[in-house]
Amino acid sequence: MKQIGFLVLLAAFFFCFSFAGQASAQTTGPTIILDGQALSLQKKDKIEIVNGSVLVPIRVIAENLGMPVSWNPGTKQVLIQNGAGDIALTIGRTTASVGSDSIKLNAAPVIRSGTTLVPLRFVGQAAGLEVGWNNLKKTVTLVSAELPQPTPSPSPSPAPSPTPAPTEPTPSPGTSQPSPSPTPAAAGLIKGIGWSDGRLAISFSGSLVPNTYAATDPARIVVQLPKTAFDPAFGTLQPLDPATRSGEFAVTDSLDATKVTYAYATSDAADPTAGAVTVTIELTGDKSYRAYQEADVESSVYVIDLNASPTPTPAPVKPGNGKKVVVIDPGHGDGDPGGIGATKKQEKIFNLSLALKVEKLLQKESAFYVILTRRDDTFIPLSDRADLANQAGADAFVSIHANIAPGKPSVRGTETYYFQGGTSSLAKVMHKHVLAATGFTDRKVKSANYKVLRETAMPATLLEVGFLSNATEESILFSDSFQNRVAQAIVDGLKEYFGK
Ligand SMILES: [Zn+2]
Repeated sequence: MKQIGFLVLLAAFFFCFSFAGQASAQTTGPTIILDGQALSLQKKDKIEIVNGSVLVPIRVIAENLGMPVSWNPGTKQVLIQNGAGDIALTIGRTTASVGSDSIKLNAAPVIRSGTTLVPLRFVGQAAGLEVGWNNLKKTVTLVSAELPQPTPSPSPSPAPSPTPAPTEPTPSPGTSQPSPSPTPAAAGLIKGIGWSDGRLAISFSGSLVPNTYAATDPARIVVQLPKTAFDPAFGTLQPLDPATRSGEFAVTDSLDATKVTYAYATSDAADPTAGAVTVTIELTGDKSYRAYQEADVESSVYVIDLNASPTPTPAPVKPGNGKKVVVIDPGHGDGDPGGIGATKKQEKIFNLSLALKVEKLLQKESAFYVILTRRDDTFIPLSDRADLANQAGADAFVSIHANIAPGKPSVRGTETYYFQGGTSSLAKVMHKHVLAATGFTDRKVKSANYKVLRETAMPATLLEVGFLSNATEESILFSDSFQNRVAQAIVDGLKEYFGK
């Protein structure tokens, strides 16, 4: 009964969400469902919409999500205790933090009649909840990852066909309807969109069948991605207006492109496969391009490359003074975030941070000459990484990654890869040292057909240091002292391998 007041209160907001044209005789009330149960809200609970973000009283978070909340009136800061990374929000500020990560909000928290209102989607996602919106049923769904997962399918990669939503956890007694799927069962989910060095990179999971074409007035390249939606984490990683499901960023380092925009649209909110994401590169004039897909270790990437010729590779750097040339390859970058962790930390950031520490240590070793495939948040195609090592006449190639096991938060440990047709000797030595440094579960040395291992002409290995999808390991992986220890282990492994 007490839901009724809340439903009325929310009605105005959900009309915003339902887009004017669809505001037909929709009489079924909206509701917020957490793990199959409607949230208890009181009449005094004010819900506010700012910049398309739903702001709810902090009490709702504390009581319904069971997260301890503290309020510091001096700093106007709300601190929400949250497993691996506490969430800090400040009244009137659009920057929040989750653990050590700073995150941009669409709407700042506000105070209304002495009550603090915070953005529901942001807090829900930061807490590891799947946040979804069913436009037909006017329902916000929050699903906690802690609930028992349905038995995973035995096949390693689920079919990309638009199967109905993954089985929902059993709703509690008293709930007559199962809550709708938190994530549209689209064939592809967009994890990241980025621009570096004349290339657009769209990182995705699942499958993608892009329809890409050039258009004029204004000059642009349009990428249509049918049966695709944004990954639930997308909006926490880059600008995405939750109301319009769209966003954009400026391109500042190109003579050819000025802006990238992206938007999700659906012709039928009840049918996840009816949705599509469109990504547009706004150009300064006609421009030829090359489009291709590549599968990285933890993510797949669709690339639109505006570079007429491949990026010039540096001249061979073989020092010729007996030094061993080692290429360190921080996986992913820019629009390819790699794996996304339990609290949405991005693999690309871990990989780069660790690689820079390895570089610093190797520079102190007179027996080694070190080259990094990237030194900042840049997207480098996999073949360019291998080319760089081949051109440099490298003696060893070490690719740094962190792992994910989607839907299996308990999976953890360190594993090391070598190319299935190549030598395992470098991988074995590196694994011994890295495993000792991480102290994680030993997931052994394994072979795989990864492109950077296959296309490199020298002994090569790929380190999966730990699992970002495991909250404990995610937190450890981002610790500075842990990274220093693993960086030293990588250097020690190289020294043992080369007898230096
Ligand atoms: Zn990776």
